[in-house]
Amino acid sequence: MASHKTRYEDCDVLVVGGGMAGTGATFEARHWGRDLKIICVEKANIDRSGAVAQGLYAINCYMGMQWGENQPEDHVRYARNDLMGMVREDLGYDMARHVDSTVHMFDEWGLPMMKNEKTGRYLREGKWQIMIHGESYKPIVAEAAKKSADKIYNRIMITHLLMDEEQKNRIGGAVGFNMRTGDFHVFRAKTVIVAAGGASHIFKPRAVGEGMGRTWYAPWSNGSAYALPIAVGAKMTQMENRIVLCRFKDGYGPVGAYFLHLKTYTQNANGENYEKKWYDQTKELVGEYIDHHPTPTCLRNHAFIQETIAGGGPIQMVTTEAFQDPHLETVGWENFLGMTVGQAVVWASQNIDPKYTNPELTTSEPYVMGSHATCSGAWVSGPEDLSPPEYFWGYNRMLTVDGLFGAGDTVGGSAHKFSSGSFTEGRLAAKAAVKYIQDQKAEGIKVTDKQCDDFKETIFKPLETYTVAQNEITGGTVSPSYISPIQGLQRLQRIMDEYVGGIATNYMTNGNMLKRGLELLAWLEEDLEKVGAEDLHQLMRAWELKHRALTSQCVTEHTMFREETRWPGYYYRGDHMKLDDDNWHCLTVSRRDPETGKFTLEKVPVYHIVDENEKKKAS
Ligand SMILES: Cc1cc2nc3c(=O)[nH]c(=O)nc-3n(C[C@H](O)[C@H](O)[C@H](O)COP(=O)(O)OP(=O)(O)OC[C@H]3O[C@@H](n4cnc5c(N)ncnc54)[C@H](O)[C@@H]3O)c2cc1C
Repeated sequence: MASHKTRYEDCDVLVVGGGMAGTGATFEARHWGRDLKIICVEKANIDRSGAVAQGLYAINCYMGMQWGENQPEDHVRYARNDLMGMVREDLGYDMARHVDSTVHMFDEWGLPMMKNEKTGRYLREGKWQIMIHGESYKPIVAEAAKKSADKIYNRIMITHLLMDEEQKNRIGGAVGFNMRTGDFHVFRAKTVIVAAGGASHIFKPRAVGEGMGRTWYAPWSNGSAYALPIAVGAKMTQMENRIVLCRFKDGYGPVGAYFLHLKTYTQNANGENYEKKWYDQTKELVGEYIDHHPTPTCLRNHAFIQETIAGGGPIQMVTTEAFQDPHLETVGWENFLGMTVGQAVVWASQNIDPKYTNPELTTSEPYVMGSHATCSGAWVSGPEDLSPPEYFWGYNRMLTVDGLFGAGDTVGGSAHKFSSGSFTEGRLAAKAAVKYIQDQKAEGIKVTDKQCDDFKETIFKPLETYTVAQNEITGGTVSPSYISPIQGLQRLQRIMDEYVGGIATNYMTNGNMLKRGLELLAWLEEDLEKVGAEDLHQLMRAWELKHRALTSQCVTEHTMFREETRWPGYYYRGDHMKLDDDNWHCLTVSRRDPETGKFTLEKVPVYHIVDENEKKKAS
């Protein structure tokens, strides 16, 4: 390993991932910890990294409390309804009560916000969404982080968390490598905030071959947010709650502005409103949840999927009416130009002008994330003033490993945070991390050179494997002694697709399929010991793949554990097709034993805090 220099950095707060949550955490850590050493480490470059890299056209989470538009309680009810009851209301409320202050800072920092000319308020796209000219969104929040951190490290992928060797179950930092220099980086830290985004490309995407890389969630979101904590034995929650999105076909262009602002609507190939056709069938599966308003996202997907299976496709978005209005036509195009340029390019290449042709929609492959209409992620402590005992162990957003915090997509149970809520959650986690240090909880951490050196050997092993095994390449990239990251990725995607409820089976799985999927994932894990990397970029791909594979194991274990179909339209358990509130009105929590690699799962009560508190007040 002599060729890879080792560089050490000791710090108080280490932020892993400089996306929305990571920039929020870095910014807030400085506010509370004036004298602390704060480091942010990012796989790409924080100016243009993460899911917001290209920009956004709307901030999807803003209460508008200053104008009495919404209250945090309303948002909790909304998220609870959308997730078929399964959210951590303490976390959701906590985020919602602080999110407006985050958005006001974005405004002060120069993010161009659209205003309602009559009222002077932020222009609403929907009940929760406000419209922005958001191409510069990410550079603006990155600037706040850069001004707050002692140092930002770009181009370093964190591969493992370090553990304290003095006190059991306490964090000690993180290690990774620089993808440009090949240096090995050791960050010994008193607290670590994991903010490494969600996971795309664990299920086989619709776009393969020439289209590979076109996905809805950012293709570089590789599940580090889950794999890092899972590997050190942190508990995870709701990992079965993968999300499927209805999006414009092939370009994955978002539909929010179209539905909410342009008031476009969907139809089947015969021009019919297909959603109501599936009402009775859906009611059979989920009971009264189908009568909730707004209709939960998964149930709208369900109607789409059923209609397509029944031969009613292609499903279209009716744009030809709204686009006759020149203002709405401009908004429709600008929506993509500031956020998903690829969709505009796809339409151009397919000769689609939405003014004259209703574009096709599709349902995406599943993604794993914690900030959208889904809530997979780490099991964290809530805030002390809101959380019941099962949900509270000292520090807000701290995982079940002491000193390890999470925010944004990393955190499970708190759906519908989006960009602003993720930044807000980063702020909350950082405030708690600083308090943890100030409370002297991080004294005497010991991380030996041996622990670091062992990781160094592990991290660079794929380069060694390739160097040796390349001599046996028989044709192209085929070698009996190693697999390449892309070969491993495609194998992972097929396993997840075919056994764990991806597009190949119309999101259907069952206990037997999942069992088989777990076997195949175990063999893949074994073979990933032989992944080879020909250069530093491929080394990154190798570690992205390993993180995706571990995340996938956790998703599969959770999907097997929950014996019901809680979210039809996200996935189906063919052996338990109905929603089962009697047995499964609960959260699922897992832990992987770092020694044995075995997962154990448990049910944890879901508390409906908001309305319970109101009921108590009334009585
Ligand atoms: C296409 C699309 C449209 C969206 N539309 C909207 C919208 O209109 N409005 C809205 O409010 N929200 C929207 N969102 C959601 C929003 O982008 C996310 O909720 C938010 O970015 C999540 O924040 P995060 O910090 O958890 O993840 P990210 O912002 O993705 O940040 C994660 C960061 O971690 C880094 N990272 C990953 N692994 C590692 C590692 N191992 N080591 C070091 N760094 C690592 C990544 O490079 C990245 O910078 C959209 C997302 C997408 C993809």
